Parts: sequence; C-alpha cells; structure tokens
Amino acid sequence: MSHQEHESYQEGDLDIQRLADLAELISEAGQIFVLAGAGMSTESGIPDFRGPDGLWTKYPEAMRMFDLAAYRSDPEVRRAAWRIRRDGGIRDAKPNVGHYAVAAWETADRRVTVATQNIDGLQQQAETSTRVLELHDTFWQTMCLSCDERLPIDQTFERLDAGEVDPNCHSCGGILKSATVAFGQQLDPRVLDSAVDAAQSCDLAIAIGSSLSVQPAASLCSVAMEGGAPLVIVNGEPTEYDEVATLIIRDRIGPALLRVSEVLGETAIIVSDLS
Ligand code: NAD
Repeated sequence: MSHQEHESYQEGDLDIQRLADLAELISEAGQIFVLAGAGMSTESGIPDFRGPDGLWTKYPEAMRMFDLAAYRSDPEVRRAAWRIRRDGGIRDAKPNVGHYAVAAWETADRRVTVATQNIDGLQQQAETSTRVLELHDTFWQTMCLSCDERLPIDQTFERLDAGEVDPNCHSCGGILKSATVAFGQQLDPRVLDSAVDAAQSCDLAIAIGSSLSVQPAASLCSVAMEGGAPLVIVNGEPTEYDEVATLIIRDRIGPALLRVSEVLGETAIIVSDLS
C-alpha cells in the first residue's frame, strides 16, 4: 500500500513558520493532550476512512462493515470484514515517524497523553512512556457479541487460514467481531472519562490526522479549549474544528512532525528509534 499523496501536503512544501510556532507551543507546555486520528497511520500504510485515498472515499459500501446492526444481521458483511482484517495491512504495519515524533514530546518536564481514535496499536509500539488511551478499543483482540469473551485476534486469523470464513465464539457460539467500537456501540466510559480529564487539564491540545467528524472523540477538542488550552490542528484537509483552532497546519503529518522535532532538538531520538 502506498503512502497517501495530496497536493496540500507535498514534502518540500512545509509551512516552516507554522511548524516553528507549533514547536514553540510544545516547548512551553507542561501537559499536552493529543487527539490522534486515522491520518496518523496512513504513512504506515493503513488507509484512513475519509481522506483522498480513504476506505470509504473509494468504497462507500465498506461503511456497512463498521455498522453494528449490519454486522450482526448480514453474514456477507462479516465475511468481508474478516477478509479486510486479515489482509488489510494493519497486521504488518509499523509505527511511522509521526508516532515517534509524538512519543518524543514526552520529557521529564512535559507530560503527553494521546487519546487515539485508531485501533492499530501503533502509537503504543513507538516505544514510549506516553500514556495512550484507545477511544475506539483495539483491533488486536476479538470480542464475542453474546458473551463478551475477549481473545487475541491471532487465534481467529488461524481459524481463517484453516478455511473458516465467519468464525463464531468457541465458548457460546455467538458472533465474533474485532474489539473495535463500531457505529452503534458505546465507547468504554472509563477510557472516555480519562480522556476528558486529560483534555481538561492540558495546557496545549493538538489534533493530528483526524477529520474531527466522529463524536464523542472530536468533542475532546472543545473540552480542552473550555479548559483554556489552545487547539492546534495538523491535518491535510479542512476539519470541523478549523474555525476555533489557534493554529492550523496542512502539511503531511510525518515530515511536519519530524520538522517540529528538529526545531525542538529531538531528531536523534526519532532516528535512533527508527533504526
Ligand atoms: P478520517 O478518515 O475521518 O480522517 C482522517 C484525516 O486525516 C483526513 O482528513 C485526511 O485528509 C487526513 N490525513 C490522512 N493522511 C494524512 C497525512 N499523511 N498527513 C496529513 N493528513 C492526513 O479519520 P478519523 O477522524 O480518525 O475518524 C475515522 C474513524 O476511523 C475513527 O473512528 C477510527 O476508529 C477509525 N479508523 C482507524 C484506523 C487506524 O486505526 N489506523 C484507520 C481507519 C479508520
């Protein structure tokens, strides 16, 4: 899968001044709240939903796989979902420079909390002490829709490899799904509460790679702003919170965050982590 290209975030075309402004805000902050979206992982080869090369932009019918009612009622939706989970690129993806750059913002004097809408686990893999809150749970486990049993998803991939197309729960026979939060499912209130606390107490909020169109995740931007924090948006396309943002950066995320880290003097950490 290739990296997403978009005319608003070509490399060599970085908005150096705005990136310097972001570096300054970061250097002055004691507690940073990051709201990450699917755009954070496109440079790891995982397509987003609504970007120019997004799954739904290209295949609107794929939306049904993320709708709980359709998933429950239609075996064909489940079969297609299992094919995409197995072959869609998340299994082999590695963190990219953006994940490492965010991880490097955490210092002895600066706490970073990342509330991610992503289910790929890549921010955690970026070898960081940064706190990561998975708002939409995780791809890496399955959950039974009847008995709630959770198991590593690799066990289900083994069953798919053995020829099953719509594996059911071994314990109760119920429908299996990845543990990710689909439309029609509630977020874990404990995770959401922790994210609200982090947003309320931050002195800088940065939304990265999200169209900010999925609630309640996007509303965390408002929570941070009501607590007095400036909001910075790093995204290749306009978002629903652009009007209220203090700073908007339209560059491609990886090169942009690498530049910010260079200004902050943190490049060595990123380079050593990627080697
Ligand atoms: P979204 O698809 O709605 O928006 C992603 C945004 O990122 C787009 O506006 C796009 O232009 C921008 N973008 C993509 N790559 C970029 C790059 N390299 N540089 C700059 N901008 C870039 O995604 P969302 O707001 O996170 O909401 C979608 C939902 O999708 C979430 O609920 C999430 O759970 C789920 N999702 C997760 C993954 C993942 O885990 N990697 C992937 C797809 C979808």
